[in-house]
Amino acid sequence: MAISLPELPYAKDALAPYISANTLDFHHDKHHNAYVTNANKLIEGTDLANLDAEAIIKKVAGDASKAGVFNNVAQAWNHSFYWKCMKPGGGGVPTGAVAQKINADFGSYEKFVEELKNAGATQFGSGWAWLVVKDGKLAVMKTANADTPIAQGVKPLLTVDVWEHAYYLDYQNRRPDYLTAFVNHLINWDFVNSCLG
Ligand code: FE
Repeated sequence: MAISLPELPYAKDALAPYISANTLDFHHDKHHNAYVTNANKLIEGTDLANLDAEAIIKKVAGDASKAGVFNNVAQAWNHSFYWKCMKPGGGGVPTGAVAQKINADFGSYEKFVEELKNAGATQFGSGWAWLVVKDGKLAVMKTANADTPIAQGVKPLLTVDVWEHAYYLDYQNRRPDYLTAFVNHLINWDFVNSCLG
């Protein structure tokens, strides 16, 4: 299979109470799994079947006739990335090289948090908020639905899923509370630093 469903890098109950085992059960085993299954069905027997997810995303981005492939492969990739952006006991002030980059490019950690939460809270409908490297500087961006910085040649360092399926069982309509919990308790800064390279 060209696109695979990775195991979660922690136990289903490891992110509780900020994200429950119930949410991870549905989000990983049902939602993410469905994107992977659909993606594989759509690329099977085509010239995309031997490419990895990132190459497929770049190849079909902007092609209206391949929107189904783009949506499912990008969602598969975005979710695989999102799981790695969290860890039990994560969040709070960053460490390592990214801490210095955040201070240099945003002015302070607090300003970065404000921008990330604002991007997540104001993404109308479904989508994602991101910390990315754009033109050599850190920046916050948001994408709608399945869209991903990868498609735009922008390097992602961190993402938070703001589709309702990511938080509705735990927070109902309170998306800002989910974003606060993500920032304060879940971000895996070691992973972010590893992406910074
Ligand atoms: Fe999701």
